[in-house]
Amino acid sequence: MDREKVAPLLRLQETDQEIERIFRRLGRIEEERQNLIKRLSDLEGELKSLEEEVNILQREIRVKKDAIKEEERLLDRAEQKLRLVRKDIEYKALLREKSKHEDNILKMSYELDDLEKALDEATKKLNSRKPSIERQIKNINEELEDLDYEEKLGKNRLEELKKLREERSKEVDQSLLKFYEEAKVKFEAGVIVKVEDEVCGGCGMKIPDILFGRMLKENSIEICPSCGRYIYYKL
Ligand SMILES: [Zn+2]
Repeated sequence: MDREKVAPLLRLQETDQEIERIFRRLGRIEEERQNLIKRLSDLEGELKSLEEEVNILQREIRVKKDAIKEEERLLDRAEQKLRLVRKDIEYKALLREKSKHEDNILKMSYELDDLEKALDEATKKLNSRKPSIERQIKNINEELEDLDYEEKLGKNRLEELKKLREERSKEVDQSLLKFYEEAKVKFEAGVIVKVEDEVCGGCGMKIPDILFGRMLKENSIEICPSCGRYIYYKL
C-alpha cells in the first residue's frame, strides 16, 4: 500500500473506532439505566410495604379499641340491669352476660397489647430503614440524571462523528475504502494497526524477523502474516 494513502485511512479508522466506542457506551448506559430503575422500584416497594405495615396496624388498633369500647358499653348496661332485676333466673342470665363481656374485654385487651407491640416494632423498622432508603433513592435518581446527560452528549458526538466520517471517507482512496469497509467487519481491533515490540497491534502475534527488518528499513506498510491486517511500524 502507498504510504500517502495510509494517513487518510487511519483518520477514518480513528473516527470509526470512536463511533464504535460511543455506540458500545450507549448500549451500556441503557443497561445501567434498566438496573437502576429496577433497584429504584425495589427500594420504593420496600418503603411502601414498611409504611403499609404501619398503616394496617394503626387501622387494626383503631378497630380493636372501638370493639373494646362497645364491649364496655354492653358490660355497663348489663351491670345497670343487674341492679334492677328481681327474678333469680334473670339475675343469673345477666351475670352470665356480664362475665361474657368481661371475658371479651380481657381477650381483646391482650390482642390490643400485641397489636401495639407489633406497631411499635413496625414503626421502629420503618424509622430505621427510611433514611437509608430515601438516601439511596436520591442517589439513584442522580445517577439516572447523569446517565441521561452522558447519553445526550454521546448522541450529539455520534451525530458529529457521522458527518466527520462522511468527509473522511471521501479523502480515502476509493478501492482502499472498499477493502477497508469489508475488512473492518472482520477486524474489530482495526484494519490498519501499529506494530509495537515486533508484535502486531491487531492479533498480538510476533512479526517474522525478515518482515520486521524490511518494515524498519523501508518504513513500509505490510500485511500481518497471521491475521491479514495492514501493519505499520512508523509513519
Ligand atoms: Zn496480526
